[in-house]
Amino acid sequence: MTEHFRAEDIVPGEGATDADTAWRHDVRAGVRNWRDLDGLPLSPDERAATEAAAERHKVRVPKAYLDLIDWNDPADPIRLQVIPSSGELAEEEGELGDPISDHGFSPVQRLTHRHADRVLLFPTYQCAVYCRFCFRKESLTSIGRGYSREALEKAYAYIEAHPEIREVILTGGDPLSLPDRALAEIRTRIERIAHVRLLRVHTRVPVVLPSRVTGRLVEALQGRLMVTVVTHFNHPREITPATEQACRTLRHGGFVLLNQSVLLKGVNDSVEVLEELCRELMYRLGVKPYYLHHGDLVRGMAHRRTTIEEGQALAAALRTRLSGICNPVYVLDLPEGGGKVPLGSSYVESRDGPDWQFCGLDGKPRNYREIVGE
Ligand code: SF4
Repeated sequence: MTEHFRAEDIVPGEGATDADTAWRHDVRAGVRNWRDLDGLPLSPDERAATEAAAERHKVRVPKAYLDLIDWNDPADPIRLQVIPSSGELAEEEGELGDPISDHGFSPVQRLTHRHADRVLLFPTYQCAVYCRFCFRKESLTSIGRGYSREALEKAYAYIEAHPEIREVILTGGDPLSLPDRALAEIRTRIERIAHVRLLRVHTRVPVVLPSRVTGRLVEALQGRLMVTVVTHFNHPREITPATEQACRTLRHGGFVLLNQSVLLKGVNDSVEVLEELCRELMYRLGVKPYYLHHGDLVRGMAHRRTTIEEGQALAAALRTRLSGICNPVYVLDLPEGGGKVPLGSSYVESRDGPDWQFCGLDGKPRNYREIVGE
């Protein structure tokens, strides 16, 4: 099986339709490495930083995503997510190579077991796009390996030996950058483990390479297991007719769709942007906003991190503007495997026995007396 993600590696097979092959054009015509940036109208800062930044984190942008950039705007939110800049080269004391300790909780290669009922499985350390803010960028750079059946054998044996594991989360790297037959192979292998109930797929492919989401890809994931696809939209400009079609295809495949965003300074740190993003995710794509992540302490990302206080103010404003179904939970994934903790402000003002005082969403105090039967 392939070790490198290239359009040529994903063999569509007999009976393939145009849709099964159209996305290859998006890969080939996009930026495939930092040298391909040469022909783009980069700023002097971007051009000066490219080679050094690419050594720390690969550069790749499919054409569909590249086409969303407004090159007249140096602060274009799509551009800031994928084009290297000098900010990446500045590392601050306290920043980490493995900010949530994936490696510290890895009993066997390609697997992280941080919480009892679920594991992360890394079928590939390659992606369809390389996001400049990625919290796993050092693993992607240092490991960088693609899929092979053999590489996952120990991980499957580990899951088999741990009946408390109910959920397997395919992450990486981006699992949907794999060929359909690799995805089908992984899914059927996991399905043979009776105690696993849910397969989660964490992916940015529906955002950056939506043409890759084909009927065959959906079929590769359909089987005994409930499947949840967790997308990664960060800005409303990423929601296009193509991403809408990709999400529709996934929904019609019977998958539950959730979205995780990362709060990024200069990209989406405004209440108007986040409000529009969350509404369009739910109303247009049928994707429930799930988490809004505070920026992890990955090295070279201080220029994209907000303060927690700024994030809390945004989360509080979203709480008053959006319905529960459109509202993500603002979380921090703690270092050393401490898990995701909600950062939203508390609405409890005081308590005296059964008498509680809350701050309402309108900012006014509200009393609540607990009444509980014997
Ligand atoms: S697609 Fe995900 S894993 Fe890959 S670079 Fe982007 S954020 Fe990181």
